[in-house]
Amino acid sequence: MSSRARSVPLRWRIAEEEDEGRLFADDEVVDRHVGSGEFRRMEFLHVNARTILNRVPEASRVPFRWTINAYRGCSHACTYCFARPTHEYLGLGIGEDFERRIVVKVNAVERLRHELASSSWLGEPVAMGTNTDPYQPAEGKYHLTREIIGVLAEHENPFSILTKSTLVLRDLSLLEKAARRTEVRVNLSVGTLDRQVWKMSEPGTPPPERRLEAVRRLNEAGIACGVLVAPVLPGLSDAPGQLEQIGAAAAEAGAVSVTPVALHLRRGVRDHYLAWLDSVRPDLALLYEGRFRRAYQPESEQRRIAETVHRAFRRAGGGVTAGGTSWRQLAARRADVSPTRRDPVGAEQLRFTC
Ligand code: SF4
Repeated sequence: MSSRARSVPLRWRIAEEEDEGRLFADDEVVDRHVGSGEFRRMEFLHVNARTILNRVPEASRVPFRWTINAYRGCSHACTYCFARPTHEYLGLGIGEDFERRIVVKVNAVERLRHELASSSWLGEPVAMGTNTDPYQPAEGKYHLTREIIGVLAEHENPFSILTKSTLVLRDLSLLEKAARRTEVRVNLSVGTLDRQVWKMSEPGTPPPERRLEAVRRLNEAGIACGVLVAPVLPGLSDAPGQLEQIGAAAAEAGAVSVTPVALHLRRGVRDHYLAWLDSVRPDLALLYEGRFRRAYQPESEQRRIAETVHRAFRRAGGGVTAGGTSWRQLAARRADVSPTRRDPVGAEQLRFTC
């Protein structure tokens, strides 16, 4: 069911670019669709974006300079999602609105063709999944990510994808073709293998073991795919045994890299997450009070998480090709190919993603 909407300007800012004070674009809602079937209880706000390639502000420490986010909001509904506040900037709520009212940039593909054809575009790597998930369920309906990949491949423009969804496998052959023309890197985000923690904290996502299966299939198809262990949740998924389990499982799935990310709670999402925690595990309140005096946990805790996951990954044979070369060495060799083909998507760059 669809209904024409009055032209309503939506104003947004880009959270992943750590630029909370800057207005990024004014776009217009041109249509609204109320979901049915598997999308019942959802609403899709169609907008015409003014631009689709978003430049990351110079001050940002993320190692990519350009991003594409075709969707705003995400029905994966992760409780900790740092992108929730972007909905508030749009005049929508960060709770249910974020999960059920999805902004769709319906002109994304057309805009991308136009922007890539510009003489000022230098073919720099483009990161997808830096704000909301490019393979969230809405992608099954709109196919924007699929078409964007096709256009980037046509232009031999390097790109990366971060997702929590196995829907990425729908585009396996397209990604294979793209990887023959340019640098393509995928990362699956798998925060834990603990099913209880997964179900309560990421209720709309595919099960973790299916995501690891996607990692295996992507690498078998020749598309370098790593695992982002993100985020590790204090008191829920940060026990040494849990960290060792996911580190080893990533290696066994053939991940080319593993990147643990400790939970951080910045302004906006902090209250939402802590209210959720209070409803499911009120006994953890004191632990969180101690850990989150600031947005980021103490460095010693971040280090413990990183070392435990990396150690388990290495012990299980992770990060090494069949020929015994580390993936990091391979990436360094590829970096010599051309200035625009430098490894666009080393796992380290993904510290700010979902
Ligand atoms: S963390 Fe990623 S997958 Fe989860 S709701 Fe946010 S954007 Fe979606």
